[in-house]
Amino acid sequence: MTIDSSASAGTPTARQSSLRDHNLGIVLRTIAQQGELSRAAIAQHTGLTRATVSRLGQDLLDARLVSELASSMDGNPGRPGTPLVLSGDRFVGVGLEINVDYVAGRAIALDGTVIAEFYEAHEASLSDPVEALARLTPHINLLMATLREHTVVGTILGVPGLVDVTTGTVLVAPNLGWRSVQPAGILGIDIEVMNDVNAQGYAAAYESPGKPRGSDTFLYVSGDVGIGSALVSDGVLGHGRHGWAGEIGHVVIEPDGPLCGCGGRGCLECYAGKRAILEAAGLPPAVPDGVLETLLDDGDDAAHAAVQRAGWALGIAISDAVNMLDVSDIILGTGLTPLVPWLRDHMMSQLEWRPLASEFLNFTVQAAPADSIPCSTGGALLALNRLLANPAAFIS
Ligand SMILES: [Zn+2]
Repeated sequence: MTIDSSASAGTPTARQSSLRDHNLGIVLRTIAQQGELSRAAIAQHTGLTRATVSRLGQDLLDARLVSELASSMDGNPGRPGTPLVLSGDRFVGVGLEINVDYVAGRAIALDGTVIAEFYEAHEASLSDPVEALARLTPHINLLMATLREHTVVGTILGVPGLVDVTTGTVLVAPNLGWRSVQPAGILGIDIEVMNDVNAQGYAAAYESPGKPRGSDTFLYVSGDVGIGSALVSDGVLGHGRHGWAGEIGHVVIEPDGPLCGCGGRGCLECYAGKRAILEAAGLPPAVPDGVLETLLDDGDDAAHAAVQRAGWALGIAISDAVNMLDVSDIILGTGLTPLVPWLRDHMMSQLEWRPLASEFLNFTVQAAPADSIPCSTGGALLALNRLLANPAAFIS
């Protein structure tokens, strides 16, 4: 439902202002979803009057949240038929990430343009957090210098571990070897911290700020050495109470199975983690990208058995998630992405019968969108989508 401020004449100033703020967000998000829209089309989409849309459109133009496309019809800017688009001139979201073997970051403007990004290979497994985070500092300084003409609406760092999102504390990051680390304090800048797989999952949900990519409700499963997941529901991340939801890598497949890094036994990671798959395929842990896929293409028995076992375990763990969460679209990210063509059928062989609702669900198993640093993309998009949710808070 939309609320038209033109219907609120005579109400107190505060209420008018909150209606205006509310409608400002509706107009901005409608433009974001549709890509480009004339004022008349915005009025049609939102139910707001043409006069209200005209006024709000001018506010958005003044704040450089939107810009006018050159009119293709008559070249006369400002006419009602001139479409409005999100502007890349002012507002930027920044996503950063630190992982066991690299640091990276990406700055995305409100119109979806990547303004700057970096990637540096950097060994940080079992690292000192101060030393490891110091590797980000020169990159952040350069990024912020590039963005000095822009307004940064948020900077979000993704970390592979349990993060208390309320305090920005990395409680434990097993592969980094960190416990109780507060990156904002160490870096000396105002940043938020979140779990890296949650950020990756968010990146899979949006093709640009405010514009959903396809299904807005899905389970994203990311697999490298460890396996994690993110539930995106109606375009919103399900963090759980503390931000710890989604540790699907430690869902138990076989209670007496192999010992897992978490101390448990038979966790999903023991079957579908990168090391587990490579080992089962008879490959060393440091094998170059693409070798496993080549073996699969060539019909290698051990490679196929390894992927069959991984797909079986993923199918069981995801069936549990389907029972709990009522989700049917599955997206496989990072190290699992290139294996989707081989994993899909083995996963489906479990999904087709295990979940109670399986006969009523049409499962999809898809590869995540191509992106070398999806965690950074997700952090930047999350910051920008908060701006779209309440633009008045950023321009008043
Ligand atoms: Zn485990």
